[in-house]
Amino acid sequence: MSSAANNIWPSWLPIRADIADLSPYGAPQISDLVALNTNENPFELPEVVISQMLQDLPDVLANLNRYPDRDAQALRGALVAYINDQSNLKLDLNNIWAANGSNEILQTIMLACGSVGALGFVPSYSVHPLIAKTTGTNWSSAARNSDFGLGVDGAIAEITETKPGLTFITTPNNPTGTATPLADLAKLAAAALEVNGILIVDEAYQEFSDELSAVTLLKEFPNIVVVRTMSKAFALAGARIGYCLADPMVISALKITRLPYHLSSTTQALGLIALANSDLLLAEVGALITERKRVAGELAKLGFAVIPSSANFLLFSGFSGASAEAWNDFIKRGILIRDVGLLGYLRVTIGKVGENNQFLAAAAELRQ
Ligand SMILES: *Cc1c(COP(=O)(O)O)cnc(C)c1O
Repeated sequence: MSSAANNIWPSWLPIRADIADLSPYGAPQISDLVALNTNENPFELPEVVISQMLQDLPDVLANLNRYPDRDAQALRGALVAYINDQSNLKLDLNNIWAANGSNEILQTIMLACGSVGALGFVPSYSVHPLIAKTTGTNWSSAARNSDFGLGVDGAIAEITETKPGLTFITTPNNPTGTATPLADLAKLAAAALEVNGILIVDEAYQEFSDELSAVTLLKEFPNIVVVRTMSKAFALAGARIGYCLADPMVISALKITRLPYHLSSTTQALGLIALANSDLLLAEVGALITERKRVAGELAKLGFAVIPSSANFLLFSGFSGASAEAWNDFIKRGILIRDVGLLGYLRVTIGKVGENNQFLAAAAELRQ
């Protein structure tokens, strides 16, 4: 989120004053480079998954004159079955909502529950305050520790003082990769409950982490909302499917602010097939975790400082010059990574082995 230098809007355009100086979210999309900048899964869908999707498509296309299932019941059923399987739970359709990416989930939550304001701990996912701004949700930020850990006592004090309706924790955190222990999430949920607020745990990278999911706390804390996505682990960023697990009362509230028929029939069908192949797709997560450990080790050998990561990316420092300059030095070597606006740091997404080696070769040059 950045401010435009001056007012660019024509007088006949009644843009809301509170968003007039915002810029659209977006990482640079530059072709012909090794793209390690948006935390996508580098593996294309396996052939068998694609052929199953193609098998289902004629039926879906033949019914495009009809609106999709407004409540995406089959997809939500498959998603909740996946979560129950992963976390050994017995959640049901009343505990899950799905939308076009977890970003839409976050927007639906803020539209429904944003009136009291929101709190986040930075550095974290910049889309949270951006959606807050566009939904008229008052946002406040508190700092993480210098090692990018959360500092649970400070965070609790912040919740108690600020009394936010919505408290955001991203774990594993983006852009730092650091995870918040489950025991700390329980304490934060208790603190949020004290001030009549909900704790939104953004678990976009959960499948890459060793920590238990916060869904295991739902029974104890009705005010936890766990936000997940198929964009990263399931290699489905282009299909746009995100979801959340929560108390049935939360889901009822979200149904008020969702748009009617928001999730297309095509999206629902593709998501179902991906979920039917979750074993195959999640096997690739294991390969990415192995690569994350290798790349982190190699970066450290080159003399870079690497923040311990539980996600599919690494935040590192130790290059000479400012982040923007070093980012450009990588571009010159054909590698697109991410300048996340953190002084002295850059973020690299774990790609395929060959891509990671190209990145490491460029990094080695920048240490000399
Ligand atoms: C990538 C990411 C998302 C995912 O967004 P989608 O809309 O599901 O693609 C959500 N939260 C965080 C922290 C992310 O890094």
